[in-house]
Amino acid sequence: MTTALDPSQRLAGFVEKAPLERYVAPERPSLIGLARPALADALGTVGVPASQRRMRAQQIWNWLYVRGATGFDQMTNVSKELRAALADKFTLARPEVVAEQVSIDGTRKWLLRLPSEHPGERPHEVECVYIPEADRGTLCVSSQVGCTLNCSFCHTGTQRLVRNLTAGEIVGQVMVARDRLGAWPEHAQPERAVVPPTSGLPDLREGGRFVTNIVMMGMGEPLYNFEAVRDALLIVADNEGIGISKRKITLSTSGVVPNIARTGAEIGCMLAVSLHATNDALRNELVPLNRKYPIRELMEACRNYPGLTNAKRITFEYVMLKGVNDSLSEAKALIKLLHGIPAKINLIPFNPWPGSRYECADWEQIEKFSEYVFNAGYSSPVRTPRGRDILAACGQLKSATEKLSARERMALRAMAMTD
Ligand code: SAH
Ligand code: SF4
Repeated sequence: MTTALDPSQRLAGFVEKAPLERYVAPERPSLIGLARPALADALGTVGVPASQRRMRAQQIWNWLYVRGATGFDQMTNVSKELRAALADKFTLARPEVVAEQVSIDGTRKWLLRLPSEHPGERPHEVECVYIPEADRGTLCVSSQVGCTLNCSFCHTGTQRLVRNLTAGEIVGQVMVARDRLGAWPEHAQPERAVVPPTSGLPDLREGGRFVTNIVMMGMGEPLYNFEAVRDALLIVADNEGIGISKRKITLSTSGVVPNIARTGAEIGCMLAVSLHATNDALRNELVPLNRKYPIRELMEACRNYPGLTNAKRITFEYVMLKGVNDSLSEAKALIKLLHGIPAKINLIPFNPWPGSRYECADWEQIEKFSEYVFNAGYSSPVRTPRGRDILAACGQLKSATEKLSARERMALRAMAMTD
């Protein structure tokens, strides 16, 4: 339907925000986030001869991503001279943690500070959320300060796009989580480390198993920051480092069609698509990017996603909005739309925020919808809201660049606790 319009009509109401700032590297940049060849080049700048660079880069890679070193002085198999030369030009800095909140359900949220472009100006803040469950620990990672897009049900969408995160700032979120959880092999382990292997919980004594899954579902649209997200995820998945399997890394997109094939080809991680509607008229409202890449094109890109099989399905996210997209005829349309695509459906109860124009669908309706989808042969877990008391649930990640008033925060908290 939308495709029949001429391009100017088709794009009416679609806003693609331009970044307000760009990243400016500090005088002593961090080595975190550099791919191996770039790390070897960095070593070249402090006088490591070309013939040794690969080996040295490998050593440092191991210190960074296997052992979680926070200072060059910990690198005992590197000469004192080289350590001093490195410390003179580089750091191992991660994003600075300015606050940590722990929810009653164990969810942890870290507020991270990122530098602004202009010295002296207020730094930016993004959030990173850790969700522990019996058999896994999922880290929800941000890709932008703010978001390029403006989905009408999403709190982040109301913000301006300040800037894209660098690969180092994205990998840095995983490093920070491991630092805070004591999840590097040589660090002291929190209490779960002593759970016996027979308990049904993973044996965490080996260390490094607290963060088992990564979801790019924090602030921002990852496919509008493709290169940095790709470079970061390849580091996170690297077997000789953090080593989180690509099957346990899920990138969620609102449907940036041209970068979907690239995600499969260049990253090879799992894909989640924020669908939320089954017809263009409604999706244009909810996800205005749909005006640029309508449902037909999005579905085509999904069908062609590299590596798609029944064992490696696409997750379709569907936020449940009362009276908007929650009817059984929409459940039926959803099944029709996904026909032939190896898919999972993830129903997300809407998380309200002050000023939002939607309400969460009634629980009974969510159950009916879920049952319909299940009977059609799809697993349809309803995503349990987590960390609501600390505003860590989907769509509630909002940086202090545009802070809520204390009153708004209280209202939001009250809503989250009671529904
Ligand atoms: N920009 C990406 C990833 C971040 S959003 C995307 O849109 O896919 C992660 C998920 O949370 C998306 O499915 C998004 O649609 C959903 N979401 C955003 N705001 C929400 C809200 N208020 N309630 C429930 N889910 C929301
Ligand atoms: Fe951006 Fe995703 Fe929110 Fe849409 S739902 S505004 S793409 S973060």
